[in-house]
Amino acid sequence: MAEPDRPAPVARRAFALREELEERGRLEPGQLEAIAQASEEQFDWRNGARVVARAWVDPEYRERLLRDGTAACAELGFAGPQGEYIVVLEARPELHPVIVCTQCSCTAWPVLGLPPDWYKSPAYRARVAREPRRVLREMGLELPESVEIRVWDTTAETRYLVLPLRPPGTEGMSEERLADIVTREAMIGVARVPAPDAGA
Ligand code: FE
Repeated sequence: MAEPDRPAPVARRAFALREELEERGRLEPGQLEAIAQASEEQFDWRNGARVVARAWVDPEYRERLLRDGTAACAELGFAGPQGEYIVVLEARPELHPVIVCTQCSCTAWPVLGLPPDWYKSPAYRARVAREPRRVLREMGLELPESVEIRVWDTTAETRYLVLPLRPPGTEGMSEERLADIVTREAMIGVARVPAPDAGA
């Protein structure tokens, strides 16, 4: 039976939209492919891990990062769309920042990459601002009551990055190894960076 109101599959709609934009001259041929390729090669949360590791070993860089996140990320070569205004939130023993985009699913692409699925989920977006402690607990992060949790809601311009606490037992680690232990979840604020031998 015909279902005239049923939307076409996503791929077909995307294709139609693209054709229309190209016909109207709003999209250059190859432009979409370029964006898709850049998003895979350039927008990677491991870039953020390198930023965090640098901040852990270099106090002056850390200061620059907290003062002007955009410029400090660009120092390491991480800049671009959705990274025009990066604000870095410092996790402290008594204050734990968490990022959400309640409107949609924005992340700082150059340092956090494209958002993970759970970050885009209506449940996370709706609940983390209202009951952050509970949501974090459900995600496996149990914070003592003495730690204040502060939720930062992404705006149209601002993209946040959490600078997590450096875990104990990492004093002698090189910047490169430190970058390896930083997780995307820790830079969103739903986890802490685990001590190196904790999961071993
Ligand atoms: Fe968004």
